[in-house]
Amino acid sequence: MLGSMLLLALLSAPTPAPGPKPVVELPFRVVLDAGHGGTNGGCHTEDGAIHEKDVTLALALDVQRELRQRLPHADIVLTRNEDQTLALADRVASANAGAADVFVSLHANASPNHDQTGFETFVLDAQASSTEAALIARRENAGEQSSPATGGAVPQAQAMVEQLRATAHRGAAIALAQAIQREQGARFPARADRGVRQASFDVLLGVRMPAVLFEAGFLDHDGDQRVLVEEQQRQRVAEGIAAALVEHYRRTSRGTLRAD
Ligand SMILES: [Zn+2]
Repeated sequence: MLGSMLLLALLSAPTPAPGPKPVVELPFRVVLDAGHGGTNGGCHTEDGAIHEKDVTLALALDVQRELRQRLPHADIVLTRNEDQTLALADRVASANAGAADVFVSLHANASPNHDQTGFETFVLDAQASSTEAALIARRENAGEQSSPATGGAVPQAQAMVEQLRATAHRGAAIALAQAIQREQGARFPARADRGVRQASFDVLLGVRMPAVLFEAGFLDHDGDQRVLVEEQQRQRVAEGIAAALVEHYRRTSRGTLRAD
């Protein structure tokens, strides 16, 4: 009796009106790496009052908040949520252990004569695109603690293996780097776009997914410093990174799947 009533109810249920099918978003896990932290302050403003480690954390939190609004289903993880010393291996492990889809390391810059300005995005390559790019990588690498297991710089043989692995994701990393530069340029047309460059950053070695390192600006340059420190401006930087990550998601997941 109950069965036939149920059948009747099902048969008499109105057919759903044709319309757009519900969209199913694919899983998307982003790791945002706030560069430096704890005893490793990174670079700083000329007066030494503001350290890179604080700027990168603030920016990472801004990007996380912005991306959660744009892609509510995404899992957005930070390598650190506070002022904490992290080994390079910990940053890489956060990404690999959770099988993340993309890794973005956030940094700020400083130049020897305090006269450089602008934003740039790096992808991993053994060959630096310029002497200056190599110097930036050397400065960033020097500040980071290596894995206790390797006891120093990443061994050359391991580095070569990791470089080869990274080539599988090179196209996606370059496309993401280009999108980050484009989105920054659209929001800050007066700032110098230093372009997509390549260098051997230890933090990008061993990350088994598309990975980029964003240098948001020069902390020892007055104009750049304002962009990085003033909340409203930094929020716009974060919006640009989030927009580029949404573009990366749409491109790599081929848009969205429709439920049938
Ligand atoms: Zn840095």
